[in-house]
Amino acid sequence: MTTVRYAPSPTGRLHLGNARPALMNWLFARANAGRYILRLDDTDTARSTEAFARGIEQDLNWLGITPDFKVRQSDRTALYDAARDRLIASGRLYPAYETEEELDGKRARARLLGRPPVYDRAALKLTPEQIAKYEAEGRKPHWRFRLDGRPVAFVDLIKGPQTVNTASMSDPVLVRADGTYLYTLPSVVDDIDLGITHVIRGEDHVSNTGNQTEIFEALGGAVPTFAHHNLLTGAEGEGLSKRIGSLSLMELREAGYEPMAVAAVAVLTGTSLPVEPYPDLAAMGQAFTLDAVSHGSARFDPAELASLNTRMLHQMPYEAARARLVALGLDSEPLWLALRGNLSVFSDIADLATLVSGPVTPVVANEDRDYLATARDLLPAEPWDETTWSKWTEALKAATGRKGRALFHPLRLALTGREQGPELRSLLPLLGRRASLARLS
Ligand code: GLU
Repeated sequence: MTTVRYAPSPTGRLHLGNARPALMNWLFARANAGRYILRLDDTDTARSTEAFARGIEQDLNWLGITPDFKVRQSDRTALYDAARDRLIASGRLYPAYETEEELDGKRARARLLGRPPVYDRAALKLTPEQIAKYEAEGRKPHWRFRLDGRPVAFVDLIKGPQTVNTASMSDPVLVRADGTYLYTLPSVVDDIDLGITHVIRGEDHVSNTGNQTEIFEALGGAVPTFAHHNLLTGAEGEGLSKRIGSLSLMELREAGYEPMAVAAVAVLTGTSLPVEPYPDLAAMGQAFTLDAVSHGSARFDPAELASLNTRMLHQMPYEAARARLVALGLDSEPLWLALRGNLSVFSDIADLATLVSGPVTPVVANEDRDYLATARDLLPAEPWDETTWSKWTEALKAATGRKGRALFHPLRLALTGREQGPELRSLLPLLGRRASLARLS
């Protein structure tokens, strides 16, 4: 069965860039009738918090993602320990005693000599006496995985055939000197244990795929299929900055963005598909496939998010808005249809609805007093509908000779007290004759 995982670290709130793999995995799982696992990569106990873990689930739910099940790496240490011991027994994991300063020194010397700063495997040549000396000094080893150092080839579902040559990489540290695990090994162990078939993640992980493939094989696990997507960047190709895209999903939610607008921007930016509204993730999943993801950049434009959000609201059918209208005590289809075209964010509806329910302070210029008196006299008899506005203003035009802005604008100012707003054609029947008359007076 197709099984994917989304694997954030609960060390902060999710932002737009994190929503991309979260959603791509979800769409892929649903398209393949597969399973979606939320894996919390919380081996960094100093920075992981319960509050961030809860926040991640809230944010995923808001986007429309409901994981089929959840695991936490902090619950699974025994599995990692067993894998570690197997790798030690098979000679693939070896102790290294260098301190951070010593490693820094080695890297600096390599740079001076114009060599790549690849770990020199000095630890493999330590004699038992040297090891005994380090141990006597109280040094604790960290543990490195001995890479084969070979071209690791795989067919990426997004990027096509790839080769990562592990010969140019340092043997990765899998276990810290304090016995805790870095991300690399637990990720592989979990992928094997949970039967992950597809790993969909950012292209910053391509080189990890090289050394993780070696670890999968060293542990005798099935290597999943990989798909590495381009990362969302700012307009200049820079990492998402504080100013724009590092906006957390929580902040975007609080700013009133529709989850489907955020989802469309997070997934469809940097693909061959247009960034356009979809009513829900199921509909987006009909259009999205991994091979639509571009090999080039994925530049996020905040203006696009805002305009997409507006378009979604302006087209939103009453049925889709209904539950939220009920919650605001504004459940009326004609009201929704009259006002939706003026929303930037959904919550604007509460303010706009006061144009109907009042109180409204009519604005009347002195030179328009006579005009408004005529307007009152010509107000059509009820029942009112969408044609009332044009009947009324046609009659007013004939009676006063006014046209264009001079004809319409004083009516808007008197009826709504505002320079701009929803179309009066739709507003008028909601207002009714009595309220209109009162405002015109
Ligand atoms: N916790 C890792 C990250 O957020 C997961 C990467 C992966 O999908 O393997 O980068």
